[in-house]
Amino acid sequence: MNNLIFIAPPAAGKGTQSELLVKNDNYEHISTGDLLREEIASKSALGNEIESIIKSGNLVSDEIVTKLLTKELTRINKAFILDGYPRNITQANILEGILKKLNKKIDYVIYLYVDEDTATKRATGRLSCPNCHQTFHKYFAKPKIENICDNCGSVLDSRSDDTEETFKTRYNNYLKNTEPLLDYYKQKGLLVQINANKESNDIYKDIKK
Ligand code: AMP
Repeated sequence: MNNLIFIAPPAAGKGTQSELLVKNDNYEHISTGDLLREEIASKSALGNEIESIIKSGNLVSDEIVTKLLTKELTRINKAFILDGYPRNITQANILEGILKKLNKKIDYVIYLYVDEDTATKRATGRLSCPNCHQTFHKYFAKPKIENICDNCGSVLDSRSDDTEETFKTRYNNYLKNTEPLLDYYKQKGLLVQINANKESNDIYKDIKK
C-alpha cells in the first residue's frame, strides 16, 4: 500500500475518493479540514478562534494545522491519505520534516483536476449528516427524503463555507497557494494527474490504476 497526498481545488472530490479508499482498501484518511471542524465542534478556545477563519474561506495558520496533523500522523500505523495538507509550499516543507522524523514517506501525490463550474456545483450541493457523517448531494446523490439522512433519520447539514461566495474565496486561495505544489511534487517525480470531471466510481477506478 502507498501513502498518498490528494491535491485538488475545493469540492473536486477528495473527500469522496478518500471514503472509497478507506472502505475498499483499508486506508486511513487524514483530512485537516475534518480535524479543524472537529475542533470547532468541541467548542474549545482554539475551535472558537478558527471558526470565523474557515467561515470566511481563508486558510488557518500553518502552526495550528501542523499541530493537529502531527498528532494524527504520529498515531496512525497504516497506509494513509492526506487530504487538505499541504496547502502551500511552507506546509510541504514542514511535512517533509515530520515524515522524516516518523520514518514515513509519500509514494504518490494525486492531482484531481476539475473545472471551476463543476467544482462550484459540487460544493454548493453538498450535504452531510451531523450524526453518522454519511454524505449526500442536492443534485448528484439525493437522500430518499429531502434533507433527511437515509441511514439514521437526522436532519442533514451543509458546510458553512460551501456558499457560492465563500467557495469563490476558497477557490482563489487554492489557485494562489496550493497550485504551486503541483510543480513542487512534479519535480520530485511523485505527481499523478487524474481527471475528476467524471462520475466518482470512474475516478476511483483511475486512481486504483
Ligand atoms: P477542506 O475541508 O479541506 O475544504 O478545508 C476547509 C477549510 O479548513 C479550508 O478552507 C481552510 O480554512 C481550513 N484548512 C483545511 N486544511 C488546511 C491547511 N492545510 N492549511 C490551512 N487551512 C486549512
